[in-house]
Amino acid sequence: MQKSDLKVLVEQIYENLLERIESEENTSKQQVIGYLKDAIDIVANINDKDLDTIEHTKESFKNSYKEIVKESLDSYQNTNEKFGELTQLNKETILKCNENHIDLNVLSEKFNEIHTHMSEEVKKANKVISNLHQKVKILEETSNLDPLTKVFNRRALGSYLSEVCENTNRPYMLHIMMLDIDNFKSINDKYGHVAGDKILIFISNILRKTLRDGDKIFRYGGEEFTIIINRNSDEQCELIANRLLTLISSNNLIYMGERISVTASIGVTKLKESDTPDSILARADKALYNSKKSGKNMFSKDFN
Ligand code: GH3
Ligand code: MG
Ligand code: MG
Repeated sequence: MQKSDLKVLVEQIYENLLERIESEENTSKQQVIGYLKDAIDIVANINDKDLDTIEHTKESFKNSYKEIVKESLDSYQNTNEKFGELTQLNKETILKCNENHIDLNVLSEKFNEIHTHMSEEVKKANKVISNLHQKVKILEETSNLDPLTKVFNRRALGSYLSEVCENTNRPYMLHIMMLDIDNFKSINDKYGHVAGDKILIFISNILRKTLRDGDKIFRYGGEEFTIIINRNSDEQCELIANRLLTLISSNNLIYMGERISVTASIGVTKLKESDTPDSILARADKALYNSKKSGKNMFSKDFN
């Protein structure tokens, strides 16, 4: 066998070892060492004259290795006696391999190091994840995000609109939409509050997917959303409103095997120089009210 072939096999051992470690819940250091020694045994006993290609070698190696690893794992878990026998066998194997000029100690050390390193990394990652979890929880409580839908909340809308209204030299247009889910109370009554919550998430996802990065989505309250459309024309805003209505009404939410269909109504207006947060919201709300009055599942505009 050539040195390069041996290298391929060692890589194969490494891959199989990682696969094995990952598939076990708690792989001990002893087990990893056991796997390695078994693997070494196989390498030491390969008769390259009997094998035509390296691919063939790899395949045979992989299969027998897996088999041995499985067996040895069962043994380690079930009896200490067997463990002792295997250790003895492994010692012999190592001696045999040393005679074949393979530096098994270095190889074994290396895999040990990798395993220790991996365990440490997993521990560190778990710690980081649990810390992050905690941080996200605190952030949600104190921040501008709505915990249910993960869009901005009303507090964020207040500060955003104040900032927007103070900046009167805006060189581009800014539109504001109020979107309210139709007949949401009866949906809650019919399918339950949890289904209602799922619909709020479902609508937020549609909004997120449809709007551009520069646009902003806020949950104004209950089943109402406020959307800010940045740098777009009146015509484009109408198209966006229509697209949102179509997406909402044509996508049914399946909840506990029930198909729930939902529609929404929209009111849209655009920012004027003299606007305050209250005045722009009142205009959008009035347009929304017109949509509700005129039959719902539609949008009304006030671009004057
Ligand atoms: P309309 O078409 O006129 O808008 O009727 P509607 O039923 O949607 O409006 P209404 O204001 O009568 O009812 C709103 C309902 O939204 C009542 C309330 O229980 C429900 N709601 C508000 N916030 C939440 C929430 O966070 N989760 C759920 N599931 N329901 C909510
Ligand atoms: Mg409402
Ligand atoms: Mg409603």
